[in-house]
Amino acid sequence: GDFPVEVDTLVIGSGPGGYVAAIRAAQLGKKVTIVEKGTIGGVCLNVGCIPSKALIEAGHRYHDAGNSEDMGITVGEAKLDFSKVQAWKGSVVDKLTGGVESLLKGNKVEVVRGEAYFVDDSTVKIMDEKSSQTYKFNDCIVATGSTPIEIPAFKWSKRVVSSTGALALDEVPKKLIVIGGGYIGIELGSAYANLGSEVTILEGTKSVLPTFEKQMSQLVVKRLKKAGVTIKTEAMAKEMEETDTGIKVKAEINGKEEEFEGDYLLVTVGRKPNTDELGLEQAGVELDEKGLVKIDKQCRTSSSHIYAIGDITHGPALAHKASYEAKVAAEAIAGEPAEIDYTAIPEVVFSGPELASVGLNEKQAKEEGYDYVASKFPFQANGRALSLNQSEGFLKMITRKEDGLVLGVQIAGTNASDMISEACLAIEAGMTAEDIALTIHAHPSLGEITMETAEVALGMPIHIV
Ligand code: FAD
Repeated sequence: GDFPVEVDTLVIGSGPGGYVAAIRAAQLGKKVTIVEKGTIGGVCLNVGCIPSKALIEAGHRYHDAGNSEDMGITVGEAKLDFSKVQAWKGSVVDKLTGGVESLLKGNKVEVVRGEAYFVDDSTVKIMDEKSSQTYKFNDCIVATGSTPIEIPAFKWSKRVVSSTGALALDEVPKKLIVIGGGYIGIELGSAYANLGSEVTILEGTKSVLPTFEKQMSQLVVKRLKKAGVTIKTEAMAKEMEETDTGIKVKAEINGKEEEFEGDYLLVTVGRKPNTDELGLEQAGVELDEKGLVKIDKQCRTSSSHIYAIGDITHGPALAHKASYEAKVAAEAIAGEPAEIDYTAIPEVVFSGPELASVGLNEKQAKEEGYDYVASKFPFQANGRALSLNQSEGFLKMITRKEDGLVLGVQIAGTNASDMISEACLAIEAGMTAEDIALTIHAHPSLGEITMETAEVALGMPIHIV
């Protein structure tokens, strides 16, 4: 065999879990090596969060260009050069992945290219096309992420694409069929609808975006329908037929078979953790029945020097959850008493309008037996929302009745993704509605909606009766 290279802290995967873990471990004095088999930045930077938000923004601008008559603005026919949109999207991704590479370098993290495979609980082999090298580590953080689930009846092809393929199309589909009404299907479906596609979304359950309250997802459905998107719920996609120019999908809806035609089919029905080709069993790392790595409050696996973070562990498969766990794992390795607390993980959909939620919603507060108050304030009563011409939506705050402790916040409205941070802070810091109401918020700003909802909780809002 080869002569092993000895490393201290080894991180596998360079997504928002891995690269953050590497940097934080280095900041805490560890000598860090990170291994990546694909592109630095993982799913999030290359084929996830960032490129999807770039396409969504391009869609908004193209759509708004022709839809601002109510503000007194009309333009000649808006023109779309999709290859330039893709090039711009690529430039955004490149800036960020390049940025991560310099951050790793600046923190003296050694980057190794190749695919890691566990040989035992302190050894991995790292392979590339040409060679294989054994590494011995003291501690390891596994952050190998997840992959789109492929359904046997809908095998990937040029026209049957996962989110990765949908982000990389070289043309705007004339007719796009989407299987799956989760956040990825909704985000990409609405981006392409705004870019001119005729979009049909097939969702198997009763409602799209099922993790959000109906009042919230309905606003998105309403907007999608207005944009010409067809949404079929309780629609089970069964089979397809592919030709050179298109796809036919058969689905069962209310016991009846319906057929849908498109030039592209996006299948987005969930993701599976990348834990099956890692040799984890040889390292003594236990998985649950879903293939997720079992971890303790410090992200430690059943093998005491191996940690796991991000999409391969239980909980929402979100970039900020991966980065949060990354810091906990790095701190644990450095001997600090860090522990995970999932109370305040925000969930956001970059739909129109945006949806965001943190902590408990009403249903969950009820289930957990809280005596709670639910307070609501409409975007329509906020000056900033009106001046943005985005007055649709509301903020809902769930507070504990006895003392006003903020238990959860749900927002449906423009910039909900940014607004939710204040709610996260309030929950993280154990604040009450009174704390938020007493905080001076800039005028005019969407943040005032959060302040006014807190005032509703206290029974004294100024701008609604
Ligand atoms: P990943 O980002 O998946 O990174 C894992 C890395 O490990 C990859 O680079 C992979 O090549 C590498 N790797 C795997 N196996 C090996 C091996 N054996 N050896 C070496 N390297 C290996 N989340 C949000 O929070 N907000 C969003 O807006 C959002 N939008 C999304 C949009 C889309 C279309 C998709 C698909 C996802 C989106 N997500 C979003 C989810 C987010 O991308 C993931 O939760 C996040 O990337 C998970 O981070 P991670 O570090 O666990 O893994």
